[in-house]
Amino acid sequence: MQCPVCGAPVEDRPAANANAKTISCEGCGTFDISNLAQTALTRMDNYHRLQALRYAQTNALAGRFPYIHGIG
Ligand SMILES: [Zn+2]
Repeated sequence: MQCPVCGAPVEDRPAANANAKTISCEGCGTFDISNLAQTALTRMDNYHRLQALRYAQTNALAGRFPYIHGIG
């Protein structure tokens, strides 16, 4: 699939949360994204997608991947 943040080709795998997936992107790093947030990001421009990633990284719990969720 394509990275939901930058559009680069990435591998995705199921995340610990059943309603999310884990994305490993060369440019964006590894992060989890909920299915709802993934849909929401498709309606946003590059700047706001990056903001969503940065916000998730800033608020990431210790030992966990940043989790993009609660958007839209
Ligand atoms: Zn990316």
